[in-house]
Amino acid sequence: MSDDPRVGGSPTDESAAGGTGGPAQPPPSVYAPWAGGPVTERAHCVLAPNPGPMTLDGTNTWVLREPGSTAAVVIDPGPADEAHLARILDVVATAGARVALTVLTHAHLDHSEGAPRFAELTGAPVRAVGQGHDDLGDGDVLTTGGLELRVVSTPGHTADSVSFALPGDHSLLTGDTVLGRGTTVVAHPDGELAAYLDSLERIRRLTGDGDVVTILPGHGPAVPDAAAMVEFYRRHRWERLQEVRSALADGASAEADPVEGVLRRVYADVAPTVWPAARMSIRAQLDYLGAR
Ligand SMILES: [Zn+2]
Repeated sequence: MSDDPRVGGSPTDESAAGGTGGPAQPPPSVYAPWAGGPVTERAHCVLAPNPGPMTLDGTNTWVLREPGSTAAVVIDPGPADEAHLARILDVVATAGARVALTVLTHAHLDHSEGAPRFAELTGAPVRAVGQGHDDLGDGDVLTTGGLELRVVSTPGHTADSVSFALPGDHSLLTGDTVLGRGTTVVAHPDGELAAYLDSLERIRRLTGDGDVVTILPGHGPAVPDAAAMVEFYRRHRWERLQEVRSALADGASAEADPVEGVLRRVYADVAPTVWPAARMSIRAQLDYLGAR
């Protein structure tokens, strides 16, 4: 779920950006336009047919498999779309494998809605954070057909958001915590900005240690320079907080609805289709600033 289409733009815009002094700029993408497909040795993306202002190119369903293994792990089957679920199964079957495990990065429907049907089709268990699932815990190691995935708790976008480290490929599957393009929404009140900033810091440490080089996100292209993208996300968040502080000082705090006051001042050039997401992020920021 993306909240800010101002950031990003065409590859030309991105590569022309940079330097110091201006607003935070994302690193250039090598996957534009993004259509999914094989990305790392172990990860293949099947792009769901649900593009939109909140989903960018669509939801990324990730098929993971240790080379030579007949057991695959699927991350986020995506929307309940029979054709999409069939395409995932095609990719798995073409690799000579079957789905042994499905995991969810979080419960937003564009990632999870197809999971019950996918479980019927595959007979494979579905694991996630939250009620009704076989809960995942931080630090859990999931080993499937020789493929190792480590659960990294990254709440903030939602309370149940988790990422999955894929050490074999020095990759991190981030769901909606870090996207391949633009920035994400902190879905207040379920999502919380303080938790989100802590999660970004956690991912920053993983990139700093060299454990994570590539981000395989829930929307948008794979990110070959994870450290640069996380740094952009951190800077963007602090810049946006500063803008919200300024908007409050500029009179938004005295308005009947400060959220609308901030929306008008800070998010004026954001498309109306993403105002609902922008309002959630503004509430998350007001909550964060009010608590300090
Ligand atoms: Zn989401």
